[in-house]
Amino acid sequence: MVETTPTHPPAPTYLDELVKQAGDEERLEALLIEVASCNDQADFALINRAYHFAKEHHKDQVRKSGEPFIAHCVEVARILAQLRMDHTTVAAGLLHDVIEDTPATYAEVAEQFGEEIAELINGVTKIDQITCESREERQAETYRKLLISMFKDIRVIFIKLADRLHNMRTLQYLSLQSRERTARETLEVYAPLARRFGFALIRWQLEDQSLKFLEPEMYQELRNKVAMTRQEREDDIKEFQIPLEERLQADGIKAEFTSRAKNFYSIYNKMKVRGKSFEEIYDLLAVRIITGTVGECYQILGLVHNIYTPNNKRFKDYISTPKSNMYQSLHTSVLGPKGQYVEVQIRTAQMHDTAEIGIAAHWRYKSNNKMPGAFNLSWLKQFGDWEQEAPNPLEFMENLKAELASQDEIFVFTPKGDLHQLPKGATPIDFAFAIHTDIGLHCERAKVNDQVVPLSTTLSSGEIVEIVTKPQQKPTLAWLDQVKTAKARQAIRHWLREEQYDHNVRLGKDELDRGLKSYRAADPPDLDAVAKEFGFSDAEHLYAALGNGDLSVGKVISRIAPLKPMRRAIRPQDRRDIRIQGMKNLMIQFGKCCGPITGDEIVGLVTRGRGVMVHRTDCYNIDRISAEPDRLLKVDWELDGEPAFTVYLRTRSRDRKSLLADISGAISTVGCNIRESNTHTDGHIAEQDFWIDVADNEQLRQAIDQIEHIEGVLEVLRVDEPTNS
Ligand code: MN
Repeated sequence: MVETTPTHPPAPTYLDELVKQAGDEERLEALLIEVASCNDQADFALINRAYHFAKEHHKDQVRKSGEPFIAHCVEVARILAQLRMDHTTVAAGLLHDVIEDTPATYAEVAEQFGEEIAELINGVTKIDQITCESREERQAETYRKLLISMFKDIRVIFIKLADRLHNMRTLQYLSLQSRERTARETLEVYAPLARRFGFALIRWQLEDQSLKFLEPEMYQELRNKVAMTRQEREDDIKEFQIPLEERLQADGIKAEFTSRAKNFYSIYNKMKVRGKSFEEIYDLLAVRIITGTVGECYQILGLVHNIYTPNNKRFKDYISTPKSNMYQSLHTSVLGPKGQYVEVQIRTAQMHDTAEIGIAAHWRYKSNNKMPGAFNLSWLKQFGDWEQEAPNPLEFMENLKAELASQDEIFVFTPKGDLHQLPKGATPIDFAFAIHTDIGLHCERAKVNDQVVPLSTTLSSGEIVEIVTKPQQKPTLAWLDQVKTAKARQAIRHWLREEQYDHNVRLGKDELDRGLKSYRAADPPDLDAVAKEFGFSDAEHLYAALGNGDLSVGKVISRIAPLKPMRRAIRPQDRRDIRIQGMKNLMIQFGKCCGPITGDEIVGLVTRGRGVMVHRTDCYNIDRISAEPDRLLKVDWELDGEPAFTVYLRTRSRDRKSLLADISGAISTVGCNIRESNTHTDGHIAEQDFWIDVADNEQLRQAIDQIEHIEGVLEVLRVDEPTNS
């Protein structure tokens, strides 16, 4: 894949020359010119004050290079100015070492320059040596602090990167051991951090500087080879460029050509990873064309393909689909005049800025060089969590490096230009929750770059996302499949749970009210007290448990309603008492075929709609039916005494074969008698009333519990008296 690369090596500017042999005043002047070149409205007085404060405090310090310390401060500030940072960041760059290396305190800086600048400086200040046991621990703690500070104000990382870049440029003055350690740390942490934010310009320099110290011979070799082939390459590019320029002129399109070369580290890396020679990697000619508008980018692409034959496999449209760090460009590879492939990148000036300074470019175009401090960086937030979970410095460093190595983040914006970093694959719902939970919970529609899109659309870097909310809009279960961020997922889950809870409370309350009504309780029961008996904190939680089916209304009513002394039923004298599997007189008829009398060996036969038919065991009808054993019930003649209480239970069930037998069986298993029962069915739903004898509440609850477990039973309610409906 084609890498974005700077014109290499960066040509020294007039200011660079000025600074090389400069005294302090010239250095300051160079800095002020740099600031003015991108913003002539900047607060130059602030930068001046910061400069003098830093100079005064660092006055006795000398860098290892022999330069006064203030030179480092100014250079860091100048790198920030070159990156077009706002004046606050530039001033903080001047002051970045005063808290760490001079007697100046946080309070002093805050008083003179404000909390904002003091916080920026505090973010890049190392953790105190004394508070840490080992070097590793100190390093881990320092990174952790840096990340947390970044989370509060992203500009901290820009200052840290500028500081690191200048330190890398002056690394040769340090001991061999420090050089290697610093260079490795730069490659492992700072270069990837720079990549994260699309800071290609800084990243390339950090990488090349690291290579210079880690593989000095390789670095020299690459340098020489690049230098040797330069003239030849430039000629080839000219030849490629001329016919194209003529066509552009004819069509009235303004465009700027630059030849580009890869940075040394990326050549080195490709040679190593792909096992290829320098020539194979570097042979490709690369041209960049910078123009005014997106339309012109595509027009130029058309012209290039018109003049030279494209290799379709290598065409990439990063304008319509930006990279995760917002990089945009058209990439194509065409057969050049000498029969070699030429890689062409076509982009607008704004895209070019983004390619070099990443997200920082956004504000340059959006809001006139004023950068907002606060960002939403979801991956950084993760480190906040890791801080609590993994206090082990080695583990923390491992996590950090692994996180930096992955490239699955995108940057998107609110219509006001606020940046949100989200994981790749994130949708407008994630975005809405990233802004505010309430916006997420009520997001109804989304617009991406002014176009209405479904909420499930995958967002791309650089898009401007607008969320339309509606108070009535609510999350659905489907949203859980449409979000990528933990924040959105958690909020939706939480909401669904809460909503479900409310729903269950309503449902449970309705059911209990209905149950209590048919019981016709004299006094309204103290439901909070009842709830406590069942182990719930209050009535609301009891309702919720009823609503979600954890608890049955029957059980609650059996607890609330007092048992009444049994009323003796008045029965016709000629009725013979029968116990069916322990129950008495259950919808019983005696078979006319065999006419059983007390003492006969008998068996019950379940009939549809007519209850149980009692036959003698030797009846010919039983022989015929015994092919269906589940219709047969064990029955005995009743001989027992009476239990203490009697209650009515009403069950509602889906009607099915042997339902009555199953319910009766369940009641008998806990030792209750059935005095009477009544069935009413519409063919689908069976409503059955049982008048049963129970010894006490506990036995009643057991009976209800047993019935509830029968397949098809929808409801068991204790009622005051059966109503014949
Ligand atoms: Mn420094």
